[in-house]
Amino acid sequence: MTKLRLAIVGAGPAGIYAADILLKAERGFDVSIDLFEQLPAPYGLVRYGVAPDHPRIKGIITALRDVLDRGDIRIFGNVKFGTDITLDDLKRHYNAVIFSTGAIRDADLDIPGIDLKGSYGAAEFVSWFDGHPDVPRTWPLEAESVAVIGNGNVALDVSRILAKHAEDLLPTEVPDNVYEILQSSPVTDVHVFGRRGPAQVKFTPLELRELGELRDVDMIVYDEDFDYDEQSKDAIASNKQVMVIDRVLQQWRQREVGAASRRLHLHFYAKPLEVLPDEDGRVRAFRYERTEPDGEGGVRGTGEIREVEIQALYRAVGYFGSPLPDIPFDAKHGVIPNHEGQVLRGDDNERMYGVYATGWIKRGPVGLIGHTKSDAMETIKHVINDQGNWWSPTDPDEESVDNLLRERGVEYTDLDGWHNLDEHEQALGAERGRARIKVVPRDEMVRVSNRTSVSASSED
Ligand SMILES: Cc1cc2nc3c(=O)[nH]c(=O)nc-3n(C[C@H](O)[C@H](O)[C@H](O)COP(=O)(O)OP(=O)(O)OC[C@H]3O[C@@H](n4cnc5c(N)ncnc54)[C@H](O)[C@@H]3O)c2cc1C
Repeated sequence: MTKLRLAIVGAGPAGIYAADILLKAERGFDVSIDLFEQLPAPYGLVRYGVAPDHPRIKGIITALRDVLDRGDIRIFGNVKFGTDITLDDLKRHYNAVIFSTGAIRDADLDIPGIDLKGSYGAAEFVSWFDGHPDVPRTWPLEAESVAVIGNGNVALDVSRILAKHAEDLLPTEVPDNVYEILQSSPVTDVHVFGRRGPAQVKFTPLELRELGELRDVDMIVYDEDFDYDEQSKDAIASNKQVMVIDRVLQQWRQREVGAASRRLHLHFYAKPLEVLPDEDGRVRAFRYERTEPDGEGGVRGTGEIREVEIQALYRAVGYFGSPLPDIPFDAKHGVIPNHEGQVLRGDDNERMYGVYATGWIKRGPVGLIGHTKSDAMETIKHVINDQGNWWSPTDPDEESVDNLLRERGVEYTDLDGWHNLDEHEQALGAERGRARIKVVPRDEMVRVSNRTSVSASSED
């Protein structure tokens, strides 16, 4: 029987679901799948994006782990496409490749002062508080008053982690270095700004409601933002999600405030204009223009300019994909150009045979983990139907890939290695009554995975 040797690059949910769907699909050929992941641990943004105090979502890892633990997918961790393995290598050893490399960096916010000291991207901060090995271990949490720009769930995650008392994160898998820095944060006020009104936010109700449950944090909303226009009233009446969001916000309007040591302010109808510096070139204030509904579902500026004093600013205006060597890239949308997952060459929009994409790098960085499953179904349908267009590898032997990586001196990890690291992290957590304590430095992750060191400590 014909055999499809398939490489998948990126072991986030999109890559793992794609492998699972292909293995379970009706097809007239055998399959052997190798999953390449640049980090020593799989699961992408479920491990390094979803906040540590969201254990229910982190629990999706259990389903992803079940897929890997079946043992019919080989995983090569700590292997970066473009550096450790190239497109030419893949063509020599596989019939096709699926890229599921996601998105990890911040989209730009083009306003003056956005690059001042004290102005950060949300993605950087998220990577830090989730213990990503490739970001610095420390974070300058010195501000009492902070602005967060954006009205999606990432803005809520960032605001919640900034406002929450560090002790309330302790039962989670928050890394030790992160806990210690959060514990000494002097923050008193977190201001979240969105350009549009409460009926147009991209928050989901559950994540919004959660803010109101934070211990010793007052939720502050402003009456001026609730003078709804007809469009907003329609949205609230016709969309259950918007209705619940409005209900939550209305409850906060009625609440007594003033007793808590920290405050989380939600400002709507605020268009970012500028980040202003102090004499040392650090963030001093955020300037914005008050907007109003334009009657067509959007907003327009009112000309009323306001400022709020802050010492740090986080832009949570979206994630953005990164280009991969030898693979087309749509720099405007931050995705690999594709038709239903079949990769297209950037210059002439013709098919790049044997190359596919799925997940955030295919569709852009929007949507929940569950959406990557439907994404993967669409891509896999084409992989199966394209049999006549697959590559013809000269060296499809499974062992040749191990040999190649070994010859190059790539210290790769495998599924057993991941089990070692996973058990090690859970054991570190159990010793201290916590869910897990993540190992943060990459070399230590590799050492623990490959059992090349007897005494592995946790992060610092
Ligand atoms: C802050 C944040 C919070 C979120 N919270 C939730 C939530 O609560 N609930 C929910 O349903 N969704 C949530 N999401 C969305 C969810 O994380 C995404 O839908 C999902 O992770 C996208 O999956 P993916 O596999 O496409 O990308 P990713 O999860 O980003 O996985 C991509 C993988 O590819 C690897 N990779 C990248 N480049 C290379 C390379 N060159 N070589 C080898 N490997 C490479 C990366 O290391 C990564 O492991 C959140 C997202 C963010 C950013």
